[in-house]
Amino acid sequence: TSAAAAAACIFCRIIKGEIPSFKLFENDKVLAFLDIQPLSRGHALVIPKTHAEKLHQVPDAELAELLPVAKKIAIAVGAENYNILQNNGRIAHQEVDHVHVHMIPKPNAAEGLG
Ligand code: 5GP
Ligand code: ZN
Repeated sequence: TSAAAAAACIFCRIIKGEIPSFKLFENDKVLAFLDIQPLSRGHALVIPKTHAEKLHQVPDAELAELLPVAKKIAIAVGAENYNILQNNGRIAHQEVDHVHVHMIPKPNAAEGLG
């Protein structure tokens, strides 16, 4: 969690507005935005604004801010079926080394990948 790691971090750059994103929610601690390669329509990412690679490195007070935002998004998009996913480490399929919670709406079978 050095300053250099944060400067190179793609999600820190999104927070700073250096890389564009479709923002869904933002406050002083948390940002939520659409995933650039969505697994379904509405696939969102919720991240703490302070850089940390993995969940166990995030202070409890910041960690506690993430799920309520995922909940707001679930309500806002009317998702009745969805997965909340959070990967830590390469072997566990983490590709971006800035903690993020996936909020992945599950489309109805009739909607296909939505
Ligand atoms: P991970 O595999 O680390 O849990 O998930 C990383 C997610 O970040 C992937 O779903 C990927 O599509 C998304 N992602 C990677 N780079 C960007 C980006 O520049 N913008 C946005 N909006 N999403 C990104
Ligand atoms: Zn970062």
